[in-house]
Amino acid sequence: MPRKPIDYNATITERLDLAEGLAIFRVRPDEPAFETFLPGQYTVLGLNHPEKGSVLRAYSIASPPQTLPGYLDFYIRYVKSPASDNPLTHLLFDRHAGDRIHLGTKIRGKFTVENEVGQDDSRLRVCVAAGTGLAPFTSMVFDHFQRLGPTSQYLVLHGASYPRDLGYKPEMEEHLNSGSGKPRYFPTISRDPGEEPWDENGWRGRVESFFEEEKLQHLERTAGLEPGHITANNAVVFICGLTGTIANTLTALLRRGFVPGELKVRHALWIPKEMPASLFFEQYDTEPVLDLKNEALLEEYRERLRSAGVELEKPATV
Ligand SMILES: Cc1cc2nc3c(=O)[nH]c(=O)nc-3n(C[C@H](O)[C@H](O)[C@H](O)COP(=O)(O)OP(=O)(O)OC[C@H]3O[C@@H](n4cnc5c(N)ncnc54)[C@H](O)[C@@H]3O)c2cc1C
Repeated sequence: MPRKPIDYNATITERLDLAEGLAIFRVRPDEPAFETFLPGQYTVLGLNHPEKGSVLRAYSIASPPQTLPGYLDFYIRYVKSPASDNPLTHLLFDRHAGDRIHLGTKIRGKFTVENEVGQDDSRLRVCVAAGTGLAPFTSMVFDHFQRLGPTSQYLVLHGASYPRDLGYKPEMEEHLNSGSGKPRYFPTISRDPGEEPWDENGWRGRVESFFEEEKLQHLERTAGLEPGHITANNAVVFICGLTGTIANTLTALLRRGFVPGELKVRHALWIPKEMPASLFFEQYDTEPVLDLKNEALLEEYRERLRSAGVELEKPATV
């Protein structure tokens, strides 16, 4: 049964194609959709299929709140193997500047600095993104820059398959690497760049490979930090993307004592309720981040936390 059509209340004013199936869509609401939002939050976009009806999906806002009431930017990947029979990205990538769209009128999400640690938290904010998972972090970095100027508080790690897939690279370089300090933006590619320009010393591998111990120390040195600096005392970690990136980053960083905020993960790892979290994630798919039935693996992860000095407490219900 097709879903009832939804009203269009916004216009796509620009579409910037970065690579095949990867674009930034600028959307202008007819009326202010919401007054403001916190960087890291999301809303929905919706379109009508002529036979299959309407489809709505969540998208992180890539632009900072300062562009309201004018427009919002969304950094979106066309999904080649979707899970549904009316995928929004298949409709969206047929749309161009001037086309109409539905923009959610509610702002959602708790994946924000304000909500997770508070704006006053002075620790380094390590942002880990795969593909379009960068969107919440561009909003955070642009917002910080507009309100407070250049910053070395954000360390942004962005992974993609090829150089052309590294959306927002010039903007991230400008905002995070142009000060007098050490670089704070680290892009990495996981495939052979072929003819595309890529520094022969440029970072290679998936974004989570930054957390292999040797590479992490190399990253710390390059960013002007002491080897071993990235621990929960000095940093908080935000991860955004699909399950693999989140799971691999989270489990690697247990060794550095990072305590996840997500309730199911905390429960599985016996993290006491009152212990403050230092690692947060926003997931774009619905696969479980940890295999909660694999007790041997969970025990290995607990051991990583214990070896970093984190005291765990077996809950009474386990
Ligand atoms: C809070 C939140 C924020 C999101 N923000 C963004 C965003 O800023 N940009 C964005 O591109 N997507 C984002 N997504 C994903 C988005 O909501 C859709 O799931 C995605 O666009 C696929 O929709 P679809 O209808 O085309 O495919 P569906 O038929 O719904 O297929 C869903 C499947 O697509 C795959 N998928 C989902 N997202 C991606 C992706 N980004 N890259 C590759 N594969 C993916 C997953 O396997 C997922 O199970 C977000 C999701 C959530 C929950």
